[in-house]
Amino acid sequence: MRIALHTLGCKLNYSETATIREDLVQRGHEIVPFSAEADVLLVNTCSVTENADIECRKIVRRGLRTSPNASVVVTGCYAQLQPEEIASIDGVKAVIGMTQKFSIGEKIDEILSSVSPRIYVDEISTATVFNGSRTGRGDSRTRSFLKIQDGCDYSCTFCTIPRARGPARAMPLSSIQQNLESIAKEGYHEVVLSGINLGEYRGENGERFIDVVNMIEEMAPPFRVRISSIEPNTLTAEIIDLISVSQTFVPHLHVPLQSGSADVLRDMRRRYSPAMYAKMADRVSSSMPHAALGIDVIVGFPGETDAHFEETVSFLEGIPFTYLHVFTYSERENTPASTMHGQVDIPVRRLRTQRLRALSQIRTIEFHKGQCGSRRVMIPEGYDPTTGRWDGWTENHVYVSLEAPSTLRKRPYSVDLLYMEQDAVRVSPIEPLEFTEPSLLPILNHTEFQ
Ligand code: SF4
Repeated sequence: MRIALHTLGCKLNYSETATIREDLVQRGHEIVPFSAEADVLLVNTCSVTENADIECRKIVRRGLRTSPNASVVVTGCYAQLQPEEIASIDGVKAVIGMTQKFSIGEKIDEILSSVSPRIYVDEISTATVFNGSRTGRGDSRTRSFLKIQDGCDYSCTFCTIPRARGPARAMPLSSIQQNLESIAKEGYHEVVLSGINLGEYRGENGERFIDVVNMIEEMAPPFRVRISSIEPNTLTAEIIDLISVSQTFVPHLHVPLQSGSADVLRDMRRRYSPAMYAKMADRVSSSMPHAALGIDVIVGFPGETDAHFEETVSFLEGIPFTYLHVFTYSERENTPASTMHGQVDIPVRRLRTQRLRALSQIRTIEFHKGQCGSRRVMIPEGYDPTTGRWDGWTENHVYVSLEAPSTLRKRPYSVDLLYMEQDAVRVSPIEPLEFTEPSLLPILNHTEFQ
């Protein structure tokens, strides 16, 4: 079978698609680009994105334009939450929920022989099995995303993830070690530890996230390690202090805030106050002044008045963050927030989003400019033949651009950060560049790592 895959949503979904892809290849199927003609179209969906249903329909329609006779299989968070709705989309042959996501390969024959759409969705609230996944093994990237945790036991009032992914569960510490050893053998230069609620990691024997960090630190692997995103109440002083002196963990943290107003945080049922967040951010910046700090913020949450929003703005102004991911609140079905009083008008939500995105842009430019004159480590990722430049990221999440031939080896290089040009910082290498045979070079467009 020729199978085309498309992934929506977060990096966790990408690593899960990679694991499904590998299983399909081992079963003898051919993976083709989504833009090519295929026998099966597999869409891995997300429930967090606004208009998940519209996105899903759009992708299915796009795939069917190229492959009108293909069987469509939909999996992922949205499939778990709205199976009937998805099964009614023209062309959909199967809807596969989270617990059966990794057995798609086994089901292909059954799906293709079925006359009507099939739904394979189990109850998720009692799921106990952890399905590990990672990108790598056969893809051409320099970075591997390793999922070590899934699910969430929190009950943030805006969030559908616990209903889509079930309770918190995690990869045993020994499996993390084995995966990292394999990743090292495969020659990756960076690993991103991923999870839904990473800081709530619990190993088989009760190990916590700090134990994962300590274990990796002791391994001293031949790649750098990035923590994808971690809740502020779980980012302890101990973890921050360890990262600040680590040769393995990079000085880049992404810590959701969601609101700078204590009232709004309470209504969101978040587990920290603005003061706790500020203390954490202060510790990060005092122990790692060159660190990047990324923050998620939701604007327009029900009951968020102009005064609450201004509290968020002034709170953020006092925090040494380097970029924001701003989400405009949208009602998600069956969440407590969707029926709360004080829904904010859509134009007001949009204006607040614009304001925070503008603040984010200013901070990112300031951070990039402030890094000029420093020496960092860049891993080249994507080559643009029109400019003759490679782009990539430094360990502290500065987006950089390096002029070099297309045959540059994609490995870490020490570079001097020179000056900002458009959205990237131009760099010059301080060590000889290494090149490969042109025929071995995968050309990638790799600006996705925001
Ligand atoms: S911590 Fe809150 S926002 Fe994050 S997945 Fe859990 S419930 Fe959702």
